[in-house]
Amino acid sequence: MTFQSTLEEIYAEVRPMSGEGEVADYIPALAQIDSTKFGIAIETIEGECFQVGDAAERFSIQSIGKVFNLALCVGIAGDRVWDRVGMEPSGNPFNSLVQLEVEGGIPRNPFINAGALVVADTLLDHLDNPNEDLLDFVQKLRGSDVHFNQKVVNSEKQHGHINTALLHFMKAHGNLNHEVDDVLDAYYHQCSIEMGCAGLARSFLFLANGGVVPGTGARVLAASQAKRVNAVMLTCGFYDQAGMFAYLVGLPGKSGVGGGIVAVIPGKLAIAVWSPKLNSHGNSVLGIKVLELFTTRTGMSIF
Ligand code: GLU
Repeated sequence: MTFQSTLEEIYAEVRPMSGEGEVADYIPALAQIDSTKFGIAIETIEGECFQVGDAAERFSIQSIGKVFNLALCVGIAGDRVWDRVGMEPSGNPFNSLVQLEVEGGIPRNPFINAGALVVADTLLDHLDNPNEDLLDFVQKLRGSDVHFNQKVVNSEKQHGHINTALLHFMKAHGNLNHEVDDVLDAYYHQCSIEMGCAGLARSFLFLANGGVVPGTGARVLAASQAKRVNAVMLTCGFYDQAGMFAYLVGLPGKSGVGGGIVAVIPGKLAIAVWSPKLNSHGNSVLGIKVLELFTTRTGMSIF
């Protein structure tokens, strides 16, 4: 089946909405991105690739990296990951301090900032070089080189006061094993991975394929672990808009404040969209619309 004409149609239809939303500017390095960028890519587990617009241009994947972080951690620590972080939707902004206080320093899920910080802390228990190991892991998923953007890492380190506060808060509650600065370094590297839509879709194919990277056949997660990562993406992948995304799109996925969204159709494909302008929940305006139209037109969703 070819998706090229469907992508081109949707791209043309959605492009006029590009005035809506705002680029994330709380991380200054992200505010400099050209807000008119717009790309879509599909990669299938059979190895087909379809793309339109700026699909090859690399962008900061931000919170989408939380999925790589979690997958690497689940592969190493198994179910022990869940001793220190929950698996329920937060219904709160991604950097909420309030919820963390009410819930005694245990983050609701691994895809809000507090949760991803705990996962990064868990990885530090097991890895001597967490940044290189994460990069190797993502390169294995993608099948080619992946880079951190050091400018984004530095910008986040200078301006990420809320993340620092989340970590100190969890440290006070006994839910942090390592030094705050070491965990921040690992977390900001994870957020600053750069990829284009096509590379991003390719690197998520293992979640469409029961934990195995199509093409190389490398098993990254057990089938049941891949199923669980997909389940957490479905329920928690879109901050406090996860319910709306499931309603409109009907796929497990993850967004980032760089304007990327990637979603998975188990057994078939991964699709990634990039458009930097975000709605008030931190999700790409055009990204959600593209995915809503894609699953509606093709009839392909998990429901
Ligand atoms: N690096 C961003 C932060 O820590 C990630 C946020 C996101 O993409 O949701 O705020």
